[in-house]
Amino acid sequence: MAENDQGLAHWADINAAKIIREKGEKDVYTCASGITPSGTVHIGNFREIISVDLVARALKKMGKKVRFIYSWDDYDVFRKVPKNMPQQEMLERHLRWPITLVPDPWGRDESYARHHEVDVEQELHRVGIEPEYLYQTRRYRGSVYARQIRTALSRRAEIRAILDAHRTEPLPAGWFPVSVFCGACSKDTTTVLSWDGDYSLEYRCDSCGRSETVDLLGTSLVKLPWRVDWPMRWAYEGVDFEPAGKDHHSEGGSFDTAREVVRRVFEHEPPVSFQYDFISIKGRGGKISSSSGDVIDLKDVLEVYTPEVTRYLFAGTRPNTEFSISFDLDVIKIYEDYDKTERIYFGAEACDEKKREKEKRIYELSQTAGVPELMPCQAPFRHLCNLLQINSGDVEKTLDALPGLRPEQRDRLRARAECAWRWITGFAPEDFRFSLRGAGEEPAAVSDAARAAIRELCALIDTGFASLDEKTLGEAVYAACAGAGIEPRAFFPEIYRALIGKDKGPRLAAFILSAGRERIVEILKGY
Ligand SMILES: [Zn+2]
Repeated sequence: MAENDQGLAHWADINAAKIIREKGEKDVYTCASGITPSGTVHIGNFREIISVDLVARALKKMGKKVRFIYSWDDYDVFRKVPKNMPQQEMLERHLRWPITLVPDPWGRDESYARHHEVDVEQELHRVGIEPEYLYQTRRYRGSVYARQIRTALSRRAEIRAILDAHRTEPLPAGWFPVSVFCGACSKDTTTVLSWDGDYSLEYRCDSCGRSETVDLLGTSLVKLPWRVDWPMRWAYEGVDFEPAGKDHHSEGGSFDTAREVVRRVFEHEPPVSFQYDFISIKGRGGKISSSSGDVIDLKDVLEVYTPEVTRYLFAGTRPNTEFSISFDLDVIKIYEDYDKTERIYFGAEACDEKKREKEKRIYELSQTAGVPELMPCQAPFRHLCNLLQINSGDVEKTLDALPGLRPEQRDRLRARAECAWRWITGFAPEDFRFSLRGAGEEPAAVSDAARAAIRELCALIDTGFASLDEKTLGEAVYAACAGAGIEPRAFFPEIYRALIGKDKGPRLAAFILSAGRERIVEILKGY
């Protein structure tokens, strides 16, 4: 990708321009993504979906019509039971079945496949991604691809040659480019015995012994294997763009073979593509995913990052770059970066022209719907964390304490506050956490000098709170220390112990002002 492809600053726009250049002017551009819901759809898989969403948005911005399809490959075979699933034995019994027929081990949805689909569809909606979902079970079981399966069968020598060129072991003699699920036991442990050159196919099940002849125009048992299925659907849907992960884009990988199969067998040009890199997870410690065992999915990320900041992580990083999603102190920095991008977008922070264009585009692409008309009320994440802890996690009370928050901005900030609280309680380092001491609690042990300074400060806060700001209160702290004959360095741990029972805490003056007169006096008057 050229950095300044036609003056475009963002990778999504550069790719959109490339699609138009390579595919020519079209009424509709079809952008595709998809996955087999054979287990938890983890955050690395999400990178593909959002990459397509970003490119689709870029095409729309260029005035193009876009069809964004997401294929649930739920008629694929169930190959392996993921370790993080409940009811392992039940699932084991359904190996080699199509995943659409495997029961939901949680009993919530109509199948194992559907359970994972529902989870993902709900989370995608939250981040503003609304593709047209295609369910391959419905397509295959409805014999929608009968003609394409017949084409694959009639071109089997050619397909075989393409696949064998990239295999160490050639495909076995008698190989057919189809897989058949047994009509009696549902397993794909079948062998094709014959094909009549048209729509009639005979198979035998190696597990239960059943053999029968099926009509491709009416059967629900036959599908194409992945390396043929993928290019067939590129042709069927007219796909113009589909990215793929490193594993598919390797030399001789499924993208390479699909490219040849689609050209030679299905007579269609392959889509424009790019390779997206892996994502790692940082700073979760031993905390496993709330929803899916040890696999981190979009839902886990949305616990700590708002939908906009989640989009920002991906929109702000080129797809071919590996990056980490952090759950440690970096979370604060990422929110700060997002806020900075927002200020640049709204002209509230200076920045050079080239960078401004890029940051503005990243901001636009980070929004789940449109860009807000006015700059949202910014409450720095760190500050929110402190306020929330002062208010024992009461989000509404915390929002009430933010000056100048307009009613229409409240929802957006509530979402951020909820993330902040989950981060504090689930992931923040221990020395970042605190809670105000309760009024009835036994006072902390403090030195006489510290007690004298605390009393003086308490009197000042009680009577003069309204006129205090960070600067004057800070000066008052130093004056109280001087009056009581204690070094500020020695005083700070003592007053933090009095307030929060720890030696360290957030910056004192700002902290006292945020907590408010009543609560601080209630605690300090006990000294
Ligand atoms: Zn069988």
